[in-house]
Amino acid sequence: MKLRDLYTKIKDILKEASESSGSEALSILSKVTGRSREGLLMDFEEEVSEAQCQLAVSLARKRASGYPLQYITEKCYFYGLELYVCEGVFIPRMETEVLVDLSLQVIEEKNIELVADVGTGTGCIAIAIALNSQCEVFATDISEKALQVAKKNAEKYQVQIGLLKGPYLEPLLHFLDRVQLIVSNPPYVSSLAQLPADVQKEPSEALFAGEDGLDFYRNFFSVPSLLRGKTIIMEMSPEQESGLRELLQNLGKLSFFKDQFNRTRFFKLEME
Ligand code: SAM
Ligand code: GLN
Repeated sequence: MKLRDLYTKIKDILKEASESSGSEALSILSKVTGRSREGLLMDFEEEVSEAQCQLAVSLARKRASGYPLQYITEKCYFYGLELYVCEGVFIPRMETEVLVDLSLQVIEEKNIELVADVGTGTGCIAIAIALNSQCEVFATDISEKALQVAKKNAEKYQVQIGLLKGPYLEPLLHFLDRVQLIVSNPPYVSSLAQLPADVQKEPSEALFAGEDGLDFYRNFFSVPSLLRGKTIIMEMSPEQESGLRELLQNLGKLSFFKDQFNRTRFFKLEME
């Protein structure tokens, strides 16, 4: 079969599942043939092997059944970076790029020298901050797999990031006095939420945080004296603003920020 015909075939399979079936078909063909997307277009008249056809068709069917494209291609894009990702690790979202911008602003305003990213996943936030500031950066996660992926991504971009395993503040405790800024995109989805099929394939510990989605914040801020004087910037779900106000406003100066879609998506807490 010619590449052109295989492209048409898998684009058809993807049509049901995706509005960008053409682009996704190219991504899958690129993974299967080892050619770049541009290279594929130039080689459209070439023959592909039966084995490659079968693999491309089975990956397209997997994708059409609601499996994330990024887990198939093992690539995701964040803040201009191309990062490795695989099943078991949360796929970065574009909203979170705004959290990086907010963090870089605070780093500049307050001359921050040491930042910690709690729940780093692919390492996307930590790596973007390390590449765009002079800060020393630490990144934590409870997931061993996430830390392995973050290590691989940090190596790709040749940034030094201290990777530490453990929940909440635990891995930071022995040098917490030096940590001036803590950033995080924690799990904040309600355990009752009905998620789209592709999101359901992501690790549940990256998403869910109790019935109201606030459990992570409750635990993280349970001993406020540990966080005295620090700035905390976190992602949240737009409907959590009032719950977070109730939980956090007595702890310091609290402000909320919007994402690219004009939805309240982040808070900054300057702890007393
Ligand atoms: N920061 C990455 C991003 O924005 O793409 C990943 C965010 S993902 C929504 C949340 C991450 O927090 C997951 O990697 C998960 O394993 C980790 N996590 C969940 N509970 C945690 C906890 N109590 N302490 C530290 N990390 C946690
Ligand atoms: N925004 C994510 C979603 O698509 C949730 C991210 C999170 O819990 N931090 O559901």
